[in-house]
Amino acid sequence: MTTSPLFYQAGPALPEVSHADGVYLWDEHGNEYLDGCSGAIACNLGHGRTDIRDAMVAQLDRVAFTYRTQFENAPAVALAEALVELTDGALEKVFFVSSGSEAVESALKLARQYFVATGQPQRRRFVSLRPSYHGSTLGALGVTGYQPLEAPFADITSASLKVPGPDFYRHTDADDASHVERVLAETRAAIEAADPGAIIAFVLEPVGGASTGARMLDRRYLEGIRALCDEFGCLLILDEVLTGIGRTGTWFAYQHYGVTPDLLTTAKGLGAGYYPVGAVLAREHIVNAVMESGGFQHGHTYAGNPLACATGLAVLEAIRRERLLANVAERGRRLEAGLKALQARFPWMGDVRGLGLLWGVELVADPRTRTPFPAAENQFARMTALAKEEGLLIYPRRTLDGLAGDHFLVTPPLTIDAQDLEILLARLERALTRLDAEVTAPGAT
Ligand code: PMP
Repeated sequence: MTTSPLFYQAGPALPEVSHADGVYLWDEHGNEYLDGCSGAIACNLGHGRTDIRDAMVAQLDRVAFTYRTQFENAPAVALAEALVELTDGALEKVFFVSSGSEAVESALKLARQYFVATGQPQRRRFVSLRPSYHGSTLGALGVTGYQPLEAPFADITSASLKVPGPDFYRHTDADDASHVERVLAETRAAIEAADPGAIIAFVLEPVGGASTGARMLDRRYLEGIRALCDEFGCLLILDEVLTGIGRTGTWFAYQHYGVTPDLLTTAKGLGAGYYPVGAVLAREHIVNAVMESGGFQHGHTYAGNPLACATGLAVLEAIRRERLLANVAERGRRLEAGLKALQARFPWMGDVRGLGLLWGVELVADPRTRTPFPAAENQFARMTALAKEEGLLIYPRRTLDGLAGDHFLVTPPLTIDAQDLEILLARLERALTRLDAEVTAPGAT
C-alpha cells in the first residue's frame, strides 16, 4: 500500500518523473523513456516546447482568466475561427471546454436541447458502439461501451442503445463490403426496434481509441451511418477527442472519409499536454435553434479562458509551421511498415491496424483462429511493463466485450523524426522479443 494520498489506480508504485524534452521523458533515477503514446495520446507536440511556453507566458502576462459571460477574449475568438476553418466551414460554431469528457457531455446536452427547442422532446436516447470510449462523466459514460467502466454505474447512468460496429479482423462474411452491409442492416434493425423517433444522435469515434485498440471503421460504414441518421432525423456526433488535431494525418479523422458530422468533439491534442482545452464544434442551425430558445443551459467555469485558448492557438500554429500533417503521413507509413515487419516475426501480433500516427496492435494466443489470450494472463499489462523496461511507453488495454482481446496503442508525438521512430521500433522489438520468449515457452498458452 502506498503512503501517497493520491488514488488514481490500483497497481505497482510508479517512478517519479524528473523532466522531459522532445519525445523523451526521464524519471528520478535517470531512466529514459521514449514517449511512444504521447502520454495519453495528448502530448502531440512532444515535451518542453519553448514556443508553446512563450505563447502561454505572453498570455499570462496579459490576462490568464476571464469569465465567458463577462468578457469576450481575443484568443477564444481566434481559436474558434481557426477550428471552424479546419472543418472548411462545415461546422460553424464552437463551444469551449476543458477536457474530452466535458466535450462529449456538452455535445450530448446540446443535441438534446436542440430537439427540445425544435419541438421533438420525445427524442431522449443516444446510439453508440460497443466497444467504445467517450469519457468518464455520467453522461459520457452512458454512451461509452466498455464494461469495466460501466458496471458500477449501470443503475444510475442513462445508457445509450449499444450496437456493434464492423470488425474487419474477425468477421466471417464473404468480404469487407458484405460485412459492412450486414452490420449496417443489423444497426438499422436495432434502432427500428428501439424506436427511431426517440433517438437524439448516433455517437461514434471515426477511428477507435484505447478501448478498441484503434478499431478502424471505413468509408462505406460511415456513409451508411450518416444516411441512417438523415433517414431517422437524428444527429451524428463524431467524437474526435483522440483523433482530432492531426493525429491521423488530417486535421480531423472524418476528413479521410468525406462524411461530415453535425457535432464534433475534440480535446487531447488541442492543448497538446500544455493546458487543458477542448471544444464542441456544431452546425450553425443547431446552435441557432438552441440560442433562440433561450441559450444553451450548460457551461464550465474554465471554458474558453484566455490562457487555454492562447495555448490552443500556439499548438495549431506549430502544427502548420512545422508541416506536421505531412510528418504524420510520412512517419505513419514507416510505423505501419515497422509494425507489420514485427508482426511477420511474431504472429501472435494478430492484428496491426491504424491510420497516421494512431496504431493499434492486438495480441492473440492463436493467430490462426484469432483466439484471444486468457484474460487472467494480462498480456497487455505484461507487454507494457516489458516496453517500459526497454525505455518505451505504450498505451495498453484489454477489451472485454465486442472486440475481445489484449492490445496496445503506439501513438508517438506528431513531431517524431525519422531517427527517433527507429529507436521506438528497436525498443518495441526488444520488448516483443522478450514477450515472445514467454508466450511461446513450453507450457505457455
Ligand atoms: N472521447 C474519447 C474518444 C477519448 O479517447 C477520451 C479520452 N481517452 C475521452 C472522450 C475523454 O477525454 P478526457 O479523458 O479528456 O475526459
